Amino acid sequence: MQIYDLIIVGAGAAGLLGAGTAAEKGLKVLLIEKMEKPARKIRISGKGRCNITNTKQHDDFLAHVYSNSRFLNPALRNFSNFQTIEFFNSLGLQTVIERGERVFPESGKAWDVAECLVKWAKKSGVEIFCNAKVKSLNIENCRITGVNTNFGNSEKTIEAKYFLIATGGISYPLTGSTGDGYNFAKQAGHTVTDLHPSLVPLKIKNHNIQLNRLQLKNISLSLYVDGKYVDDEFGEAEFNRTGITGALALRLSRKAVSAIIAKKHVEIRLDLKPALNCEQLKNRIAREMQTVTTNYALLCKMLPLQIVNIFAEKANIKLQNRITDADIEKIIASLKNITFEICGFNGFDEAIVTAGGVSLNEIDSKTMRSKILENLYFAGEIINLDANTGGYNLQIAFSTARLATQSIAKQLKKSF
Ligand SMILES: Cc1cc2nc3c(=O)[nH]c(=O)nc-3n(C[C@H](O)[C@H](O)[C@H](O)COP(=O)(O)OP(=O)(O)OC[C@H]3O[C@@H](n4cnc5c(N)ncnc54)[C@H](O)[C@@H]3O)c2cc1C
Repeated sequence: MQIYDLIIVGAGAAGLLGAGTAAEKGLKVLLIEKMEKPARKIRISGKGRCNITNTKQHDDFLAHVYSNSRFLNPALRNFSNFQTIEFFNSLGLQTVIERGERVFPESGKAWDVAECLVKWAKKSGVEIFCNAKVKSLNIENCRITGVNTNFGNSEKTIEAKYFLIATGGISYPLTGSTGDGYNFAKQAGHTVTDLHPSLVPLKIKNHNIQLNRLQLKNISLSLYVDGKYVDDEFGEAEFNRTGITGALALRLSRKAVSAIIAKKHVEIRLDLKPALNCEQLKNRIAREMQTVTTNYALLCKMLPLQIVNIFAEKANIKLQNRITDADIEKIIASLKNITFEICGFNGFDEAIVTAGGVSLNEIDSKTMRSKILENLYFAGEIINLDANTGGYNLQIAFSTARLATQSIAKQLKKSF
């Protein structure tokens, strides 16, 4: 029977990059993927454009990583965001840097990133089995000996010297990430921390459906937990049928979700004019009042039409009335703060990433090796690491996978 040097379970971002790295080092690598094609999640990432990484400097980059960014330090030093860009460029995939230091393929197609990785992995000698689902691990004398794998109706045990679990999290399960790897980790004796959706839309209590699809630009959102300021973000937000989404809300969602789970009172405060202070707003309103007389006409000048009625309701002003000094005070106060009570969050099927995973205490951050089984390694979203939107999550997958398979290659060399 064929014995591989390395079996990688999961042909996502981590699995593909790890597999190609190991194969380039001369290892005989098998990559097992349960879907019909590798990298389904990459193909839909970044709204179909794939935000590959981010060009923030090391410490700034780590500031966007949870649950313990120090854990990522060795992996990111070993294969940095800048090396990721060079890597893709060397494969002929040109990249562009956009607002927020986010890196995208120049073609604007996530599909190209996925294909580029698959082509490179195959060219490097990686064997890829698709439509093959790993069911469980074979463990003997503190080592994994093989993976029990379903191929349609038949089941086979495939053996190897080393194993890397790169099965991702449990979010967007239609892409194949259904959390199987957590069971493998538990089978190996690992602790899996509580899992919850992150980068996920937030639900607003008594949400006004008229807000559905409203997009707001150049606004700021602040997160308050039990009345205390926690964080704020500036940029774009979008409302949906149940609450608030868009880049800002998603970024605030990790802390909001934790607070909701802890049964705390969570609010999002919307500042519609973050660039103007109250005095500047007063001057702006005075200028507008040279041509308008009613609250309605004034608000139409200052806000998107879709929000005018709701704004008036929240500000407690009568739209058809002539503008009074008291109205101006209320308008200014509401422009700077409309409060939404957050009562929940959407599920894993709408979460960009899973927070939680295989406990960091049980993985060696310098090698990605399990501290429990000596020939087991982890990479990517399965680990209890996640990050903001902005290309950080894919970089976590790339850096941890590169480090894991380089470490495996070193181990193999030692044993010759
Ligand atoms: C809609 C969306 C958009 C995103 N956009 C971005 C973005 O632009 N930039 C960014 O940085 N991050 C983005 N992310 C997050 C990022 O895509 C993930 O964090 C990253 O893909 C994780 O990589 P991974 O290899 O660990 O897991 P995955 O990419 O999830 O890959 C895991 C693979 O393992 C396979 N698998 C699972 N179980 C088994 C099994 N039992 N047997 C065999 N195979 C198995 C799965 O089918 C899957 O192919 C996005 C996520 C989503 C959902």
